[in-house]
Amino acid sequence: MMDKQGILVVLSGFSGAGKGTIMKALLERHDDYALSISATTRKPRAGEVEGREYFFVSKEQFLSMVEEDALIEHAQYVDNYYGTPKRYVEEQRAAGKDVILEIEIQGALKIKEKFPDALLIFVMPPDAAELEHRLTGRGTESPEAVRARLKRAAEEAVGVEAYDYILVNDQLDTCVEELHQMIQVQHSRTSARIAMISKMRQELSRLG
Ligand code: ADP
Ligand code: 5GP
Repeated sequence: MMDKQGILVVLSGFSGAGKGTIMKALLERHDDYALSISATTRKPRAGEVEGREYFFVSKEQFLSMVEEDALIEHAQYVDNYYGTPKRYVEEQRAAGKDVILEIEIQGALKIKEKFPDALLIFVMPPDAAELEHRLTGRGTESPEAVRARLKRAAEEAVGVEAYDYILVNDQLDTCVEELHQMIQVQHSRTSARIAMISKMRQELSRLG
């Protein structure tokens, strides 16, 4: 028996580590994944489109989503709120797609608590200097915001032990294939466990 329901994959990592870039490449190469679009109170960056990168909402709208239990998890990051809408994740998983959540560490830990089978992956750049270089090179943040994000990165390194894998984003192509393999391994594990439990249940019911 196969696990028909898609699995939850959490991709976290320091701002500028390359999560967005990795996800874009993964989705271009494989069509068995769905990317969850979060709601955020952050303002759109140049080039970001409503409903593609995020659902951009006011603080009031965000708080009413929390109130209505419409988010699987939510967290504050630097000065803004971010959260994962529940409905899309449930629909996609039910359709057999693996759903990827690109979220920060507090949200990731909540997901692991609620869904122990979720796969937690933490993306790291090859080194800290490269992180600063990528954040500055992206050109989307003011120097103050870059500093705030680097500071937050140092704090975030604290909870990384809870993740299943560290994924180093040096060569993009290699990194994307490694991510794909990690997810496939988790699938095999989940399927094997479900098959084992189902077999044991059948055997026990025959004995009982
Ligand atoms: P995040 O989503 O983690 O904040 P981004 O995907 O926006 O990070 O990447 C930050 C910057 O680093 C972007 O300018 C991106 O083009 C660049 N980048 C991402 N991956 C690599 C890589 N493997 N090698 C070199 N530059 C990269
Ligand atoms: P950014 O402002 O750079 O797009 O995102 C800032 C941080 O918020 C990133 O670490 C990103 O992964 C995280 N994030 C984005 N969406 C969510 C979400 O729905 N929930 C949580 N907990 N974090 C999120």
